[in-house]
Amino acid sequence: MKGEKKGIFNSASVGPDKCTFCKIAMGEFPSYMVFEDEKYIAFLDINPFSKGHTLVCPKAHGETVWDMEETEIGGLFLLASRVSRAVVEATGAEGFRLLQNNGEAANQVVAHVHVHVIPVMMSHKGKPMDRMQLDGGEMEATSAAIRKALSRF
Ligand code: 5GP
Ligand code: ZN
Repeated sequence: MKGEKKGIFNSASVGPDKCTFCKIAMGEFPSYMVFEDEKYIAFLDINPFSKGHTLVCPKAHGETVWDMEETEIGGLFLLASRVSRAVVEATGAEGFRLLQNNGEAANQVVAHVHVHVIPVMMSHKGKPMDRMQLDGGEMEATSAAIRKALSRF
């Protein structure tokens, strides 16, 4: 039920005024945005597991899915699914992961709800994925390709 957070702990807890993803949603911090509407945003992860790794968020601040309006949870995952089609098309991936961490125990580092869309290749199969750093040109080109692909889904 909404609001019941018993047992969920996150040392990264911050209010909306200090939240990185709120600042990205408000355009106060830069990002490689691939989608934006009234309620949601999607942008490239700054330290991706693979090229095209995208984060999909509600604009409204909340730490976990339990903090979200229940009617908006479905929209978040629907958008993550739509974004996954564009990410796969733009990157030529052979699979993808949808991942959503709630609480420090689940490795949540940014305390603003987000769904990871992580494209994977057959070469990733069975192997742990390492974080990577793409240069600005690659991030720009990748986000542009995802934005373009999204217009078809
Ligand atoms: P979590 O572990 O909380 O599920 O994932 C947080 C993700 O946010 C990480 O993959 C991390 O690389 C990403 N991230 C952290 N800070 C920023 C930022 O300022 N901009 C962007 N685009 N991604 C960030
Ligand atoms: Zn926030």
